Amino acid sequence: MKPVKDEVPEPKSPCPFCKDPVADYQEDCSKCLNYIPFCIASGKHVTAEDLGHCKHCKFPVNSSYIKKMLNTEGIDQSCPMCNTEITMDDIVYTGEAGVAALKRAPAKDEKEK
Ligand SMILES: [Zn+2]
Ligand SMILES: [Zn+2]
Repeated sequence: MKPVKDEVPEPKSPCPFCKDPVADYQEDCSKCLNYIPFCIASGKHVTAEDLGHCKHCKFPVNSSYIKKMLNTEGIDQSCPMCNTEITMDDIVYTGEAGVAALKRAPAKDEKEK
């Protein structure tokens, strides 16, 4: 039997809410159905362990990605969203603690299973 597809599987990273693997460029988690915000620097959805935001525009970023970006010479050292010149001091790292604030609206009660 031949495999139907011979593609490299899409890279995935964990949903910040339920930790289920979600394709990097997918904006909804198919498991918990939450909308996952995009990192303004990488265009991928944010992850809980990497979560931070620009302190000027408050848009979410994956802090390790923006750090890499700011450490790369020749790349614009400014926030891709608000165009303010930034350093790592302008990136507020929140990690897991910031996840709750990402939810657009509490659709239903959150329950630990
Ligand atoms: Zn999820
Ligand atoms: Zn910004």
